[in-house]
Amino acid sequence: MGRIRRRDKEKKKAFSIFDDDEPSDVSEDEDLPKDEAGRRKIKRQYSELLGVRIEKLKGRILNRERINKTIEGVYFICIDCKKVCHNMDDGLLEDPENANNRCAPCARSKGIPLPPGGGKGQAAA
Ligand SMILES: [Zn+2]
Repeated sequence: MGRIRRRDKEKKKAFSIFDDDEPSDVSEDEDLPKDEAGRRKIKRQYSELLGVRIEKLKGRILNRERINKTIEGVYFICIDCKKVCHNMDDGLLEDPENANNRCAPCARSKGIPLPPGGGKGQAAA
């Protein structure tokens, strides 16, 4: 009389086919759409590169990139949260003087209305 009950063994075997599914080493960046992952990487690089200088540069635009004919991507440091932000990910309330640029969540938390169209300056009154 077997110590191992055959039916159980076979069941296990059948299941192991599905267990075999190896976890691929996906980094968290690869879960995101390519562009957003790229921007996240760049934002991280900026903040590493700037280090303590972020304090001095807060509120400033770091870089602009043309994404297509109508959209411009802007990397900037939010004056309030001092994080490196991108207008397409974090929103941007752009300061024409380039001194008080602010991300959308910070603008909202201060009750500053965002101009329509993701923060392009022309709508600001
Ligand atoms: Zn902010």
